[in-house]
Amino acid sequence: MAPFLIYRTGLFFRFFMAGPGRIYYTIPDMNPWHNITSLSYRQIKELQNSRLEHFINTHVYPFSGHYRKLLDDNKINPRHVKSISDLRLLPFTSKLDLVAKDDPQRFKDFILQPDQEKIRQFWPKDRLLKLAVQSLLKGKGFVRESLGKEYRPVFMTFTTGTTNSPVPFTYSRYDIENLNLSGSRMVNLFNIQSDERIMNIFPFAPHLAFWQTFFGALESGVFALSTGGGKVMGTEGNLTALMRTKPSVILGVPSYIYHLVRFAQERKQDLSFLKKIVLGAAKVTAGYKQKLDEMLSDCGAKGVLIFGTYGFTEAKTAWAECPAENNVSSGYHLYPDKEIFEIIDPQTGQVKDEDQDGELVYTSLDARASVVVRYRTGDFVKGGISHGPCPYCGRVTLRLSSDISRLSDTKDLSLSKIKGMLVNLNHFAEVLNNIAEVDEWQIEIRKHNNDPYDSDELVVYMTPKKEINEKTFSEMLKDKLMGATELAPNEIKFVPLDEMIKRLELETANKEKRILDNRPS
Ligand SMILES: [Zn+2]
Repeated sequence: MAPFLIYRTGLFFRFFMAGPGRIYYTIPDMNPWHNITSLSYRQIKELQNSRLEHFINTHVYPFSGHYRKLLDDNKINPRHVKSISDLRLLPFTSKLDLVAKDDPQRFKDFILQPDQEKIRQFWPKDRLLKLAVQSLLKGKGFVRESLGKEYRPVFMTFTTGTTNSPVPFTYSRYDIENLNLSGSRMVNLFNIQSDERIMNIFPFAPHLAFWQTFFGALESGVFALSTGGGKVMGTEGNLTALMRTKPSVILGVPSYIYHLVRFAQERKQDLSFLKKIVLGAAKVTAGYKQKLDEMLSDCGAKGVLIFGTYGFTEAKTAWAECPAENNVSSGYHLYPDKEIFEIIDPQTGQVKDEDQDGELVYTSLDARASVVVRYRTGDFVKGGISHGPCPYCGRVTLRLSSDISRLSDTKDLSLSKIKGMLVNLNHFAEVLNNIAEVDEWQIEIRKHNNDPYDSDELVVYMTPKKEINEKTFSEMLKDKLMGATELAPNEIKFVPLDEMIKRLELETANKEKRILDNRPS
């Protein structure tokens, strides 16, 4: 009788502690960074080497349809991948591989699909032995269920969809645990205490930013209100929620955060409870931070720390800067136990040193469900990756320079041929965001008379912050745009703020319509 009682009590205790549906009770690590920050640079590299070898040989090659074929077609033995430098044996993966136009189901080739036969063939003896023992003690059903938890897709996000067609990317329960971990690492990095409140204003959508924030707060045990952004609750609704919740931290996309703070400023609200603003999903300029800071100060929120995050669908995670004085960008604090970043020359594909400028190439070390290896992000970083203690927070991890521009956007829109010239539209954004008098702007590229054979026209729609002399302002603007892009706009149209908000779809779209290409294709 006694052993039975002990067993029952033990089970009850575990159940009581963990709650139903979560039998694996573990004490959460108080410091989610511990696994990285306790290692030296050399130890980090050793960890990455061994994880890479394991990941390629135990998960990717055996279970990924795409990579199995890729390695076989190129006669590459996965056993030869033993360290980071061996990665260059493998061809790159690009977005085009994920979204083949002729095959909408292509993304499934990137999902790990284990079966009994492949497990027997590829898994090391010790892991097979463990499975056999589990099967004997707890039954085949238990083994099937635990493999299901590790591999079966249960969640999905898409790319934001400014470029190409959206790419579906799946997560298993195992991946959700990793999403929880990166989320709690970020909450820890932001130095958010358990008695603080956060407001998640990212648009509610199957996009990484919203869910990374949602899961991160949940895992860290911090109160979070996820409003879903302007499209779900309206700006009036978001402001009401903000004033009632009084969060110390808000997270969202730069354009909407800016819009919401301006909305609060116009209504003379007291935002003195705000301490930190975390921006995601878009590049911000120093000019943007300064303008936002001025509006916040006007609302009584002085010295608010404004900083950014970086992430993309295929990584199933995001990385963040730590808050630094004077809104300096501290660099994205990476998770070298979970991924490898290479830096390459975007033209030649040649691998460069870690601290060089170049295109970022991502390889997962610990993903299940959808997996990419040597994925070309199309993002160009200036300043590469640095190591050693962070000068702002002291954490020892790899840090990725914050100066990243999305080359991927440029492939079909930003790098556009206007008036016969190849123009990087990111430069327009940089110029316009950094002019203190500019509140909102939009660029329209169109054909003269809407005739597909006629010449291109570039129109700038402009909402200034205050009364300005339109003529002198237009001349200054033309000069600045000419200097940065060698292209002068045909026309600068001044429009009132409410009309501009509609033009940009600030309150109705997940991503604002900053640059419109209205040329008939
Ligand atoms: Zn730091």
